[in-house]
Amino acid sequence: MDKKELELELEKLEGFQDPDSKLEQYRTPPELASSVLWSVYMKGEIEGKKIYDLGCGTGTLGIGAKILGAEEVVCVDVDEKAIEIAKKNAKKAGVDIEFLAIDVMEASGSADIVIQNPPFGSQVPGSDRPFIKKSLKIAPVVYSFHMGGTDRFVRRYVDNCGGVVTSSQTINFPLERTMPWHDKDIESVEVVFYRFERK
Ligand code: SAH
Repeated sequence: MDKKELELELEKLEGFQDPDSKLEQYRTPPELASSVLWSVYMKGEIEGKKIYDLGCGTGTLGIGAKILGAEEVVCVDVDEKAIEIAKKNAKKAGVDIEFLAIDVMEASGSADIVIQNPPFGSQVPGSDRPFIKKSLKIAPVVYSFHMGGTDRFVRRYVDNCGGVVTSSQTINFPLERTMPWHDKDIESVEVVFYRFERK
């Protein structure tokens, strides 16, 4: 398996059928998902690890992590419809994953790594916070996408939750046209892919 093969596997998966704007349901595009997962894999932080994907949506990140050899993957999303699609996607990809249709705040347990692309808090202000807080409770190492331009807030909140940002990478995120107010087919927004650690 290499990065391109992973991308091709992720392209076979289904996205959201009827995305809910309040839940900020945007799928991480396969190319971007495979690129960030590959970078985490190369750091030795996927193979043999227990991984949580919080706000998994249709399962792209968690399924990708399992394809790359994660020992165990737990995917959490509050939206049952998204979880149903994610289950089908896991089956299609031939991977075994535990799915939980619960709010992120109800998630418990522990893992080696969390990899998440949560809501950015642009529709419901603050909706990204519980993900930062919970992810650091579950795992000592977290990879998380956040909206560009919120860097000071993200760093301060990670610090409040007992973590520290160890790296960040700015990425253009191609937003597919999913919401009625999008007037272009694909619009690019700036996002940042962070790595945090517990202090
Ligand atoms: N991580 C997926 C989906 C990103 S969209 C991907 O990378 O493709 C953000 C996801 O967070 C949506 O699926 C949405 O349903 C979920 N979500 C939003 N608020 C949530 C909450 N409070 N608890 C759990 N999941 C939530």
